[in-house]
Amino acid sequence: MKKVCLVCKEKYTPKQYATQLYCGRACKEKARYLKAVAEGKPRKGGYSRSVYIRIWMKARGESDFSAPCSFCGTQISVDEPFHLAHTLPRADLTFEQIKSEKFLKLSCPDCNQAMGQMTEAEFTGEKQ
Ligand SMILES: [Zn+2]
Ligand SMILES: [Zn+2]
Repeated sequence: MKKVCLVCKEKYTPKQYATQLYCGRACKEKARYLKAVAEGKPRKGGYSRSVYIRIWMKARGESDFSAPCSFCGTQISVDEPFHLAHTLPRADLTFEQIKSEKFLKLSCPDCNQAMGQMTEAEFTGEKQ
């Protein structure tokens, strides 16, 4: 009896018909890797963003791994989700401007979501 590999879609003859899902070790490892990526886990040898920032800050002699949201001032820990908010709506920016750091500010997820397509000036004006 043949089965179809869930990764490469090739037909293969499984050694254990009931439990085997992939044609071989390579596809099994690929499936595990794809699952890890889908769950947002770092790939083998990779580290999450917070690890890089923490090591950088430690090297600078810093021990406070948090930073304030540019809009509401809430302290965001490096381990919490944080966003980069565009100070001008993305639709108004050129491709080069979108890639540039000039129009990006650290933001908590709430402010970035509330800001939506507003400019920074519109958003901070609305909050007052
Ligand atoms: Zn396969
Ligand atoms: Zn905020």
